[in-house]
Amino acid sequence: MRFQPFWFDSAMSAESPDPTSQSLPKSADVVIIGGGFTGLWTAIMTKLQSPETDVVVIEKGFCGQGASGRNGGAMLTWSTKFMSLMTLFGREQAKFLAVASEQAVHEIKAFTEKHQIACDCCVDGTYYTYSNHAQHGALEPVIKTLSSNAINQWRKMTAHDVTLTGSPTNSAGWYSPHAGSVQPALLVRGLRRVAISLGVKVVEHTEYHQHAEMNSLSIETSKGTINARKLVFAVNAWLPSLIPRFARKVVLVSSDMVITKPMPETLRELNLTHGAPIIDSRIFVNYYRTTSCGRLMLGKGGNYFSFHNRVSDTFDAPSRYQTILDHSLKRFFPNHDFAIERSWTGPSDRSVTGMPFFGHLNGSPNVLFGSGYSGNGVVQSFLGGKILSSLLLGLNNEWTDCALVDQTLPDFPPDPIRTLGAYVVRDAIRRKEQAEDANKTPWPLDSWLSRLSGSAAKVDMSAKEPA
Ligand SMILES: Cc1cc2nc3c(=O)[nH]c(=O)nc-3n(C[C@H](O)[C@H](O)[C@H](O)COP(=O)(O)OP(=O)(O)OC[C@H]3O[C@@H](n4cnc5c(N)ncnc54)[C@H](O)[C@@H]3O)c2cc1C
Repeated sequence: MRFQPFWFDSAMSAESPDPTSQSLPKSADVVIIGGGFTGLWTAIMTKLQSPETDVVVIEKGFCGQGASGRNGGAMLTWSTKFMSLMTLFGREQAKFLAVASEQAVHEIKAFTEKHQIACDCCVDGTYYTYSNHAQHGALEPVIKTLSSNAINQWRKMTAHDVTLTGSPTNSAGWYSPHAGSVQPALLVRGLRRVAISLGVKVVEHTEYHQHAEMNSLSIETSKGTINARKLVFAVNAWLPSLIPRFARKVVLVSSDMVITKPMPETLRELNLTHGAPIIDSRIFVNYYRTTSCGRLMLGKGGNYFSFHNRVSDTFDAPSRYQTILDHSLKRFFPNHDFAIERSWTGPSDRSVTGMPFFGHLNGSPNVLFGSGYSGNGVVQSFLGGKILSSLLLGLNNEWTDCALVDQTLPDFPPDPIRTLGAYVVRDAIRRKEQAEDANKTPWPLDSWLSRLSGSAAKVDMSAKEPA
């Protein structure tokens, strides 16, 4: 049997055989390619606003088989990227997007409750910690900037908060209540169920091949042709392979994770009885969270970069980097030996700016795309759904006007320079962060190279508030 990431496997084994599986219709108003969070939120929000619109979602595997069914499930916001947002889009848009991302956490929770999606959605906040001396003060600039713009929701962690991280390695940090965690595969499979109940046709095991735009759109798939008025690409990591103009707009990089066997007693001893993700303040963050069945999941990004942005088989296998993950577990929990249930990995689509992009393909009013979440997509794809559904329905609102739509996108260098350069910078970051963990001064060259990672960090650490 094909290897499956832990979350997706658990979600699928809990499902009974599906009698609602649908065949490809001949036509639709809207066809959405990709049955992950972006595609399904877009379908649901389109149907909720316009029940008469005929929406079809086409997914080449099962819905949730991409990033949405295998991510860390950390529900995080753009508040920690506020300075980047201001530099890119100006103060008002930065405020709008940061605040909207915080509200989205609560909107997702409310949606899961209303539609009875049992996906362990816990809005218990998040702890951004300092796990070595060099990290101290990393969040202060962005929190100061949030405060001076009257939108700060973070507070300094108390000594009690530090104990709630379960690790003696975390010495201080910041807490925000607007965050949480979710079992992502249960969420995406639940969205599929809700979409179908609203009348969306969800056609799985059907692959988009190409389309032609004439009076209407003629879309060729592995199961035949469908005609539509509008088409949306919600294919995340597959976008550069499907549409060459995106070949240099993202770099595909793995995020890798391990999950332990159930150990509720140990988690209780460690004070880890909440669902708040704990994230340290380095470029390639360590992040961990618990599950309702007493497991601990730890993840780390920035490991494997795929040549030519191919979604290679490496992304569909156990993690090649388990030694690094084991090392992180030992560093955070030096007094415990955890039994690992499974490791897995998946591709994140990092854009040059670290922000996602939405818009019209080649200026066509009928063909849309949304991608580039850069490893921050669980909450942000909900906003992606608001943007894409508003664009589909031809609305004129804060989402169609928002700065993420029809941006001028900068390029990464072409391959082989991109991938080789990514590995050079990755290794420099690793050496720098290892030196800092050992309380040593990193090599100046490594510190310099690390700065080239630009927007890769979850927190704006060195960015300055624009004048
Ligand atoms: C390992 C990992 C960990 C992550 N951890 C976090 C986290 O903790 N917090 C966070 O906020 N974000 C995280 N992310 C990012 C987040 O998972 C993504 O941003 C988000 O899931 C993107 O959703 P999507 O629907 O756009 O893409 P996907 O879920 O990847 O959906 C795209 C879908 O398109 C389908 N598809 C592709 N090509 C075709 C085709 N030709 N025809 C038909 N269908 C096609 C794919 O099969 C796939 O199901 C992580 C990502 C990864 C990979």
